Amino acid sequence: MNRRQTIPKELRYTVENFHSRFPDNDACLEQIKEQRFPGGVTVCHKCERPRKHYRVRGRTAYACETCGNHIFPLAGTIFEKTSTSLRLWFYAMYLMGSTRCGISAKQIQRETGVTYKCAWRMFHQIRKLMSEEELRLGGSGGGVEADEAYFGGRRKNDSGRMLAGNKNKLTTVMGVVERKGRIVARVQPVSIAATSALVKEYVMPETMIFTDEAPAYNALPQLEGMGYQHKRINHSAKVYVAGEVHTNTIEGFWSLVKRGIGGVYHSVSAKYLQSYLNEYSFRYNRRDSGNLIFASLLERVSEMASRKPASEA
Ligand SMILES: [Zn+2]
Repeated sequence: MNRRQTIPKELRYTVENFHSRFPDNDACLEQIKEQRFPGGVTVCHKCERPRKHYRVRGRTAYACETCGNHIFPLAGTIFEKTSTSLRLWFYAMYLMGSTRCGISAKQIQRETGVTYKCAWRMFHQIRKLMSEEELRLGGSGGGVEADEAYFGGRRKNDSGRMLAGNKNKLTTVMGVVERKGRIVARVQPVSIAATSALVKEYVMPETMIFTDEAPAYNALPQLEGMGYQHKRINHSAKVYVAGEVHTNTIEGFWSLVKRGIGGVYHSVSAKYLQSYLNEYSFRYNRRDSGNLIFASLLERVSEMASRKPASEA
């Protein structure tokens, strides 16, 4: 595991920090409650006004101080229907958030002592927290790079033979990245229509977009109302950088993902490639926060739950 030892102290969150901050299930429940209902105050649906709520002993509920109606902070979260202890969930999130290149379900099993089935489920639920549909890139900054990449298909086994059933099964991926900024990557076809749709969805109007010469990017300057500027680098003529025109940032990301898939996950099916991309993007987009990614994951728990009312559990 590539553990970076150079994380500045203020960006370090050690396993001791974790254990002292979250010594038991109650501390974890309290954290989620505070994120969703700071101070325990939220509208009581019986009283129909904001009320303070107190913890109900032995349950994952808090009760209205006036009428006793219960609220459930875990409702609608990834923890809602679990029989695994909240603290193990938190620990798995800590583990997934504190290594540079991610850990596998197998490692979660080893570290937490749950069954593999359970570890696998936690792993995928936690990874769901890492999707960033709401990101919008570009605008007035230094421009974005768009590029395509191909995964799978060319993998060989140890003896150098192509793996059976894997031949020519390339999965295409498109990505857009801000220079020195954030990335969005999607499993999708590489065509004019698909590429234009991705860029329109995630890149703000008036942005300068750098791509290679692939025809899939031909329509970008004409997308109605978007006002994109478009500069291309001619890779087929073996030109890789011409002043500010290059796609080196996003190609760096592709090789990061490919190295990670080779090293940690050994192989990846097309079906799961999107969630791998989400995990890598989430980490990449927070690469300056040391191993404090755990804190971002915790925030995502309540952000993704807040659409569901907590009192209807
Ligand atoms: Zn009430």
